[in-house]
Amino acid sequence: MINYIFKDDAKRNISVGKIVCLARTYIKHAEEMKSNVPEVPLLFLKPASSIIFDGDSIIFPKISKCLHHEVELGIVIGKKCKKVSSINALDYVLGYCVTLDITARDIQSIAKKKGWPWGIAKGFDTFAPISNIILKEEVSDPNNLSILLKVNGDARQSSNTKNMVFTVEQIIEFISSVMTLEPGDLIMTGTPEGVAEIKKGDVLEAWLSNICSLKVFVT
Ligand code: MG
Repeated sequence: MINYIFKDDAKRNISVGKIVCLARTYIKHAEEMKSNVPEVPLLFLKPASSIIFDGDSIIFPKISKCLHHEVELGIVIGKKCKKVSSINALDYVLGYCVTLDITARDIQSIAKKKGWPWGIAKGFDTFAPISNIILKEEVSDPNNLSILLKVNGDARQSSNTKNMVFTVEQIIEFISSVMTLEPGDLIMTGTPEGVAEIKKGDVLEAWLSNICSLKVFVT
């Protein structure tokens, strides 16, 4: 079991459950991937074993030659929910974090061509770095947070969660219509434009407005 780390340093003993990820939730990122934004959210899963924390390292797998960064808003679920309405969806949120959906783009490209799922491309150990969790009470509007990623000090991805095609509330409503969300589940909400390669030796720094930050390395 991997327990979350909280920004307020309190020990809450909440372990990471399933990680539900969305793809193509920002129009400009869908365009750069030569894809369309789907009418309903496009979901995939990452294993909890892919989680790492601030100060840790992303390990470059031997079978990939091309890793990409995708900076994303993370939502941590606080209460079990199934088939919730967007109107009260935020009642089920514990907090938020900034996350990186690390992707073996070369493996994903082959999978896309063959119509295969993305489990390998998205699921290696260390492929889900997350910041410490900030409680939702500290966040006035999750649908208006700036999101920024720098690699070796250079800005690579810069956007705002208001540019997502679905709100946080709509995302929780949709996912909970498919599967029960449980305390400790993490939703990775998709990435804005600017995804690009990372190399061994790179330093990645991500921010969610001025409320969360994350620094990880590539080895
Ligand atoms: Mg992603």
